[in-house]
Amino acid sequence: MISEDAALREQVATAVRLLTAEGIMDFNGHLSVRAPDAPDQILINPRRISRNAVLAKEIVRVDLRNRPVKDELEPPSETPLHTAIYRQRADVMSVAHIHPMIATAFSIAQVPIVPVFTLGCIFGDGVPVFNKPDLIRSDQLADELAESLGNARAALMYGHGAVVVGENVEACFNACIWFEENAKKLLAARQMNGAIKPFTPEEIARLKKQMWQPEVLRKTWDYYVDKGKRAGVLD
Ligand SMILES: [Zn+2]
Repeated sequence: MISEDAALREQVATAVRLLTAEGIMDFNGHLSVRAPDAPDQILINPRRISRNAVLAKEIVRVDLRNRPVKDELEPPSETPLHTAIYRQRADVMSVAHIHPMIATAFSIAQVPIVPVFTLGCIFGDGVPVFNKPDLIRSDQLADELAESLGNARAALMYGHGAVVVGENVEACFNACIWFEENAKKLLAARQMNGAIKPFTPEEIARLKKQMWQPEVLRKTWDYYVDKGKRAGVLD
């Protein structure tokens, strides 16, 4: 039987490839998950392997002080961003650092991201902006970023990208997809003559209950896995 560790490595590699294929991750970017047997260790895609081609066996294990646990491949230079969030948020089991085109533009324009389509409801608590464009390579900057994120689902990093968190890899992957999709629809609506009509708090609460369900997350995940297989993104 395949171990939980092996299954998670496979999931991380799959999520990274699929997010890259969707243009949400690019030559940089990473996704991590807490190790199943050690909550103070994470599994993350390595620094120098192409996000298009990363394999489960190349996923690296790192402790919450950014030290590789075994002599594996080099972890990403921005690993501190992941570990700081795991240190501050016991509820978070998976973290993604992405460079989504449209959502990132909102950080540059300093226009707030508000939920405007059904699946965007998970960002109803607001999307904080971390207003430094630097790469997050130190624990100090990473702690500042984690503080900006607070209890939110996602935070924008000014002129850089975003961090998105989830209860597991599937949830984190879905949140990344929905984050950029919400930003695209918000951008489209903002081009038109007329005021934006964001969801009310009641609508957000209602939609969240309907949408943030394991079967919805699984359906989206399966859709992208199938799409990835057909496109040759996955083996
Ligand atoms: Zn980055």
